[in-house]
Amino acid sequence: MVDKKEAGRRLALVTGGGRGIGRVIALKLGERGFDVAVNYNNSAAGAEELCRELSAREILARAFKADVSRAQDAAALFKSIEESMGTVQVLVNNAGITRDNLLMRMKEEEWSDVIAANLNSAFYCTKEAIRGMVRARWGRVVCIASVVGLVGNAGQANYSATKAGLVGFAKSVAREYAAKGVTVNVVAPGFIETDMTGVLKENVRAAMLQQIPAGRIGSPEDVAKAVAFFASDESEYVTGQVLAVDGGMTMC
Ligand code: NAP
Repeated sequence: MVDKKEAGRRLALVTGGGRGIGRVIALKLGERGFDVAVNYNNSAAGAEELCRELSAREILARAFKADVSRAQDAAALFKSIEESMGTVQVLVNNAGITRDNLLMRMKEEEWSDVIAANLNSAFYCTKEAIRGMVRARWGRVVCIASVVGLVGNAGQANYSATKAGLVGFAKSVAREYAAKGVTVNVVAPGFIETDMTGVLKENVRAAMLQQIPAGRIGSPEDVAKAVAFFASDESEYVTGQVLAVDGGMTMC
């Protein structure tokens, strides 16, 4: 068991940290002084490479495989982290998938897979993390939602429902533990350059860009900076909030 007080550093877990936005969040939290537990499901090589990169900068980092859409995997993940790194004090619920389709064509699995990966995962991981945070009288939960959870998106009824669900989940948990030093906030990215958006056709990208007042597509770094704020002591009086990181696309 690791004595975090002795180590004097806080431990952050990023789900889906092996690539995309999660990878950059993990790097950012490492730079900001956290030890980092990197969860991955399929991206073993990405997660291992990230841990090597962090370790080279003298940041303690380890990779943990788990499918966080499954309760048993999430429980095993937290047990392994506790045994090898200590108690999670910052949880970033980042893991997410899309299975886009118009509602009329949407298959039951397209609905349920997205609910499991995007929403159930946050329930399982936050439930695992919250006891330790309350005990420490300090904790940070950051959920990565999406602006489509706030404004909707044709072809993404499943995905948008999970992202809106994360907002209600975060606000409720924020109310439960605000007096215990635990904050729960949401970062809602707009259009961010990753594998998830890399599959979009050029005309769709151009149409999206037209709607972004900042005049550029967002980077994972833009999202990571907002997460770092919510993970820090600077945000101690901020809880139950949704911060859109979207270059002004939604302003709602
Ligand atoms: P991405 O490049 O497709 O990466 C998705 C990440 O989620 C991967 O690291 C993947 O891990 C992980 N993941 C998915 N299912 C998982 C599971 N069951 N267990 C563990 N990890 C799982 O996507 P991204 O763009 O970085 O998105 C990251 C988050 O930001 C998601 O929640 C997404 O909805 C949100 N977001 C993205 C955008 C955007 O424009 N890109 C906009 C708004 C919100 P493995 O590869 O290891 O399987």
